[in-house]
Amino acid sequence: MLVSATQMLNKAVEGKYAVGQFNINNLEWTKAILSTAQENNSPVILGVSEGAGKYMTGFKTVAAMVKAMIEEMNITVPVALHLDHGTYEGCLKCIDAGFSSVMFDGSHYPIEENIQKTKELVELCHKKGISIEAEVGSIGGEEDGVVGAGEIADPNECKMIADLGVDFLAAGIGNIHGKYPENWKGLDFDALGKTKELIGNLPLVLHGGTGIPADMIKTAISLGVAKINVNTECQLYFQEATRKYIEEGKDLVGKGFDPRKLLAPGTEAIKVNVKEKMELFGSVNKA
Ligand SMILES: [Zn+2]
Repeated sequence: MLVSATQMLNKAVEGKYAVGQFNINNLEWTKAILSTAQENNSPVILGVSEGAGKYMTGFKTVAAMVKAMIEEMNITVPVALHLDHGTYEGCLKCIDAGFSSVMFDGSHYPIEENIQKTKELVELCHKKGISIEAEVGSIGGEEDGVVGAGEIADPNECKMIADLGVDFLAAGIGNIHGKYPENWKGLDFDALGKTKELIGNLPLVLHGGTGIPADMIKTAISLGVAKINVNTECQLYFQEATRKYIEEGKDLVGKGFDPRKLLAPGTEAIKVNVKEKMELFGSVNKA
């Protein structure tokens, strides 16, 4: 069932668990995540970056595929199709294409401009029953080989953006995209607590879920994080399983070259990763 992410995340705040956002890249990824959500009776958010949208030939293709798969696979758990780190234009395209949720990443704009653009998009989304995530304090990560530390969002700026009517908010608390460096300082729970105090029950989003230790994830959830984004980890699981298949020479045996066989171990590995995350986040049987 394709739905906006608002209700599932409000329920998660109330129940003190988090819903995973797993980014998709193709049919195999989508199939693996949807079937794992159904098997575990868990709500799920499918994340699509602008790059992944382009790779799949456009947001319309993605929306059509996801809607058709939900129907063909008899997926009855709540599924949100969400634009990840959208530009203003990307959000407009996804609203038009039939996404049920978008993230507007205005964190690189001065706060006034972030506010103005977020406000416009909130109005557009809510007219169509689409949920919207905004971001304050940019989330670090690797760019051109340089790993930047995650910014800590100013709790007052978080409050300003929250007051615009966004449905959930990504606040940087030292989290970063991709693999975490050895000398990473960990999540800033003080900042998270202050933000939570100001914004009340608005669901908070933790980006860069790959490699954050389980105890920090649990603390973050107890402080109001209700959505956790996982992207890199599924890629690493897929890569490892695919590498193993080829290194063991299985593609050279019989019809091992068949793409349905070649991609199967990676697809199964994504399912393992998604299930582990659903269990850690506490979303199993919360559909
Ligand atoms: Zn992110």
